[in-house]
Amino acid sequence: MSHEVRAVVAMKKDAPVEVTTILVPDPGPGEVLVSVQSCGVCRTDLRYREGAVGGGDGFPYLLGHEAAGTVESVGEGVTGLVPGDSVVLAWRAPCGRCRSCRRGRPWYCFDSRGAQRSMTLLDGTPLTAALGIGGFAELTLVAAGQAVKVDPAARPEAAGLIGCGVMTGYGAAVHTAGVRGGDTVAVIGCGGVGGAAIAGASLAGARRIIAVDTDDTRLDGALRFGATHTVNSLGTDPVLAVRELTGGCGADAVIDAVGRPETYRQGFAMRDLAGVLVLAGVPDPGATVTLPLLEVFSRGGSLTSSWYGDALPSRDFPVLVDLYLRGKFDLGALVSETLSLHEVEDALARMRAGDGGDAPRSVVTP
Ligand SMILES: [Zn+2]
Ligand SMILES: [Zn+2]
Repeated sequence: MSHEVRAVVAMKKDAPVEVTTILVPDPGPGEVLVSVQSCGVCRTDLRYREGAVGGGDGFPYLLGHEAAGTVESVGEGVTGLVPGDSVVLAWRAPCGRCRSCRRGRPWYCFDSRGAQRSMTLLDGTPLTAALGIGGFAELTLVAAGQAVKVDPAARPEAAGLIGCGVMTGYGAAVHTAGVRGGDTVAVIGCGGVGGAAIAGASLAGARRIIAVDTDDTRLDGALRFGATHTVNSLGTDPVLAVRELTGGCGADAVIDAVGRPETYRQGFAMRDLAGVLVLAGVPDPGATVTLPLLEVFSRGGSLTSSWYGDALPSRDFPVLVDLYLRGKFDLGALVSETLSLHEVEDALARMRAGDGGDAPRSVVTP
């Protein structure tokens, strides 16, 4: 049996997204049908709409990938989940078979897959679910490994953000940069991902956390997540400012949550010797950066990227929900507004017109 539900679909490249009726099948073996309660609007949804993901040959796309909901039904062979369970959806469900999983590094899994059965338009055209999730819909179908059970006490609007932006930022600080007690940290870009990186650094015990952004509202938000200092890079050279705030040394860890050539070069230069620079923002296609190779060598340390915060969702999502419920991580502060499915196009248009930072989240409640 299939279910007719309303959903937000990008039919073709650069066209406004549409709210339309789609068909969601009952779960097959190893699959779970989820009733979506909330789904954040992320920059990656805009990239799908622009045709910038996977060469843009997956239209029509069912958008949305930062979702929380409850289990509606489970397919054959699914264990550990029952109807009614609260879940946050992950876009990485380690396969256990790829070369990375076999080497004991499932957080890099190279072959994570979504549901095998397709959700479709009413005429049977298969939809490509954004990041294998498709959360801008009343119901969505995912692989069981993508549905991570969490404490039902968490507000879905806040918990859903863990599924993408929050995990990416928190994990960039805690897992990828490996921030430890006493470290100095600089975070460039203080939207959803950067805010979560600041919270992660704070929870890991960083001594000094310097938030860099061009927007004073986002910098105020950064203070709430645990930043100890803020730098507005419109009027101040952020490299000099970070050096000054770190006794002339530079930061032990720098997280670039913007991902533009200029922010990456700033991050490279504001790092201490043997420090780490983590690229967490997704660059535009075609962006390039030139670095002085002698400095790459002589500064030592590492230049690395963070894929989804090097997350293991089954390990990390419940931890983040618990931190939220204990009042240690104010996920609710990231939710700037709640929208209906009909307002997604507006939110994407505003994001496109913005300055490139991922502002705190618009969250859709289907
Ligand atoms: Zn995302
Ligand atoms: Zn794998």
